[in-house]
Amino acid sequence: MIAEVIIDSSVKTLNKIFDYEIPQDLNVKIGARVFVPFGNKKSLEEGIVINIKEKSEYKVKQIASLQDEYIEENYINLAKWMSHRYFCNLADCLRLMLPPGRTSKNVLNRVKEKRVNFVSLAKDADEIFIDIESGKIKSEKQKNVLEFIINNGNATTQDIELFTDASSAIVKTLVKNGYLEINNLQVERNPFLHKTVEKTVDLELTDEQEKAYNSIKEQGKYLLYGITGSGKTEVYLRLIGKMLRQNKSSIMLVPEISLTPQTVDRFISRFGEEHIAVLHSKLSIGERYDQWNKIKSGEAKIIIGARSAIFCPAADLGLIIIDEEHDESYQSEMTPRYDAREIAEYLSENKEIPLVLGSATPDMNTFYKAKNGEYELLTLTKRANNSSLPTVEVVDLRQELLSGNKLMISRKLKEEIEKNLQNKKQIILYLNRRGFSTFVMCRDCGYTVKCKRCDITLTYHKYQHKLKCHYCGYEQDEVNECPECKSKNIKYFGAGTQKLEDEIKNIFPTASTIRMDIDTVSKKNSHEQILNKFKEENIDILIGTQMVVKGHHFPNVTLVGVLAADGSLNIGDFRANEKTFQILTQVAGRAGREKDAGRVIIQTYNPDNYAIEFSKTQDYNLFYNTEIDIRKQLKYPPFCDIIVIDMSAKDIRELKKVAKEIHTYLKRRVIDEKFGLLLYSPVPSPIDKIKDRYRMRIIIKCKYDERINNLLNDSLDEFYKMKTVSARVAVELNPNNML
Ligand code: ADP
Ligand code: ZN
Ligand code: ZN
Repeated sequence: MIAEVIIDSSVKTLNKIFDYEIPQDLNVKIGARVFVPFGNKKSLEEGIVINIKEKSEYKVKQIASLQDEYIEENYINLAKWMSHRYFCNLADCLRLMLPPGRTSKNVLNRVKEKRVNFVSLAKDADEIFIDIESGKIKSEKQKNVLEFIINNGNATTQDIELFTDASSAIVKTLVKNGYLEINNLQVERNPFLHKTVEKTVDLELTDEQEKAYNSIKEQGKYLLYGITGSGKTEVYLRLIGKMLRQNKSSIMLVPEISLTPQTVDRFISRFGEEHIAVLHSKLSIGERYDQWNKIKSGEAKIIIGARSAIFCPAADLGLIIIDEEHDESYQSEMTPRYDAREIAEYLSENKEIPLVLGSATPDMNTFYKAKNGEYELLTLTKRANNSSLPTVEVVDLRQELLSGNKLMISRKLKEEIEKNLQNKKQIILYLNRRGFSTFVMCRDCGYTVKCKRCDITLTYHKYQHKLKCHYCGYEQDEVNECPECKSKNIKYFGAGTQKLEDEIKNIFPTASTIRMDIDTVSKKNSHEQILNKFKEENIDILIGTQMVVKGHHFPNVTLVGVLAADGSLNIGDFRANEKTFQILTQVAGRAGREKDAGRVIIQTYNPDNYAIEFSKTQDYNLFYNTEIDIRKQLKYPPFCDIIVIDMSAKDIRELKKVAKEIHTYLKRRVIDEKFGLLLYSPVPSPIDKIKDRYRMRIIIKCKYDERINNLLNDSLDEFYKMKTVSARVAVELNPNNML
């Protein structure tokens, strides 16, 4: 018999089927992982069998060995659909469905140590690939280790030894050469940290919850639209409970950032730790591997995870829930650039199981689908514990400036903070900009300090005395003298979370503060350590970026301040208003979730903007109706799709040439075959250089369909045929981030 094998590679020319003979003594089934000889390579290549047939028209080699791991046939079909839909190699998609940490050496011993060395990349994966391709890194073992970490994320030194067969000396060399870094951290193979959680029982559902719960049938797609605190999670708990009684698995996706022990605890306390598995990128590979097995064996029937958990091999899957479905983290920004919600839809249709999307501020597209009957709309309009929605007040920052207040905090917000401090109530201040100042400029000649690799301004980080690039991580020492004109008249403009913390400490010297942004949460678990500390030690003020917005429940928080609502308004994205409304509503939802009423102060330079206006009453319907009209007029999703062809190269001439050729190809086909679409000429991307790569893009506005998908795939094939050095092209449909 002959097996059709897909080689595990992202190289475009290998994105096809290779036939191999199945040796008599190997029981190879569809979905099997195999190792095969390939080309004139000495080592074997890994592949997945996607079909088995009688004979091949070619003279074929034999499969060398077989791993005891299978991808279900359903998921192979899903991968095929994905590779077409997301313009990538089939292997890129299949990889998502394989257990974490797979390599040729699949032995795994339990790691006993409490403290271990966590190894992570010290450089960008792209740069490492370049060094591998250019032959700068020669040792096979070094390459294996680097590829292993690129594919699997952070790993312990033990993980690396177990999975890649490389000694710790190899890791040390890579650290010395600046590719890897080691942090000594505490990890446990059991991510639940063995807490004793109190058992909870089902709450008596409110009428609205009851109605929603009863509407969700054996099959179908649902949007559970419920205001913040309306008890959506309680509905999920009930649905999962029902599945458990039928011995079926449930997958619940939550945004990466809300996947905290607090979230998981709610499920553990209802169903017990033994039934639950968690999957997210902060777990070590060993932990993920264990969780994967717990899922595959059917031991864990409740899977709580971030985006990629949608691909886990849940035994007898009966339900998929996606909480906070509007969250950006469901869309992958790496190849394959999939949207977990689309994968969930596929699985729900394919497996004939219910899919429940939940949100207080649904994605415009999702709500549009619900209005048009593609999803059944279930609504929760009241807070479940009878607390009321917070009152929201908008402060016009232009007025503040006029009256001479140059501080980040308006007089009104200052007053409200004082009140809260007196009443021993907690405060959250939200500012979507980390660091201290956003840019550094010479007052005499106007020179601004930019990242040489990304062409964007560097941000000042005061405590480290560094200027940092928030795109590529480049950092340099602060400047006291203009590199251009040698003037000492250097000014730091704009304001980030560090500056806000300073200002708060000045105005309220006795208040305790804690700051949460990427700079303070980069270590494993520190994200929730901060949240725990805030809650348990009753810290007065939590200052943070986006991270403070998501689904946390702090009973004692009664005041939320938004320092600059405009942050997300001027981002050159058609979703700017939608994002602003979502953030404001979500952040406001953190205030007054218990008996004490909450207050929200929103500071802005655009008090008349409708996204800000409607967030006063947190009226999603009003916002939706206004926004949908605008989308319709301007032909934006959901009325029209936006395709972005992203092109980048190290050399600007090469990039321009590639862009021109792709555009010419598309244009000819569009005219010849009478495609009804708008094809724009190539233009530099809004951020036209990142990490030393120049970037251009072609935008297409159309009503996306199969024919257009084929056109795009063809144009990619055209690109792969071109002779290029460093150019890369990626196609994205309605990307989350238009920058
Ligand atoms: P959401 O997920 O919509 O933000 P939650 O499920 O977290 O809302 O519920 C908010 C609060 O209301 C929680 O403290 C929860 O325990 C409580 N709650 C939810 N449902 C009920 C109910 N049926 N009866 C009483 N309290 C409830
Ligand atoms: Zn100067
Ligand atoms: Zn940079």
